[in-house]
Amino acid sequence: MIKAVLFDMDGVLYDSMSNHVQAWSETASAWGLKSEPEDFYLMEGRTGPATIDVLFNRNRGRDATPEEKEIIYNQKSRRFVELNAVAQPMPGAMEVLEKVKQLGLLRIVVTGSGQYTLFENLDTHFPGFFDKDLIVTAYDVRYGKPHPEPYLMGLKKANLAPQEAVVIENAPLGIESAVAAEIYTIAVNTGPLPDEILLKAGAHSLFPSMKALAESDIWNQLSESE
Ligand code: MG
Repeated sequence: MIKAVLFDMDGVLYDSMSNHVQAWSETASAWGLKSEPEDFYLMEGRTGPATIDVLFNRNRGRDATPEEKEIIYNQKSRRFVELNAVAQPMPGAMEVLEKVKQLGLLRIVVTGSGQYTLFENLDTHFPGFFDKDLIVTAYDVRYGKPHPEPYLMGLKKANLAPQEAVVIENAPLGIESAVAAEIYTIAVNTGPLPDEILLKAGAHSLFPSMKALAESDIWNQLSESE
């Protein structure tokens, strides 16, 4: 029986990925690290330091030093905050949340993000839908996605088994993380990657948008599987 929905944040609840990608691209090129926008959509969900290591290994054949990681990640984060000064909720996210609440399911957020005002932002844009104790951020985990730890932590915070939850994810590595945690994973393809990449990551079903997910009959199926 399904008791909860675990939501990824960027690209699911917020239409923020293009700002993340721009912040990463600008920061990488300022450091002479070559990258393509698609790289950052493919790496979405990795922690900042892990993303920087991938860029360093491709460009310089080594990991970044801890100092380099700190400076570069701060620079990227500052640029993201500038670009994302007005956060845009994902079209259809509110409809999905209303559906989930109507069905009496818990709402949990599982993000690799470490923004200090994360809960306050969620509560501003989606008032009453989330509980401060049911959010997993960068500060709660040791390993980022695609490791299952973030989603396992989400289950643990609500005292749930994997079969009692579903995940909504937009990123290949986020899907891998949720699938590795053995949770039914719904992909929403809100970015530029082909559907096949999300399906290959293990998604159990796929929708082209949050709006399509809100309007789909998957919710009836989920509530009938009780
Ligand atoms: Mg995401």
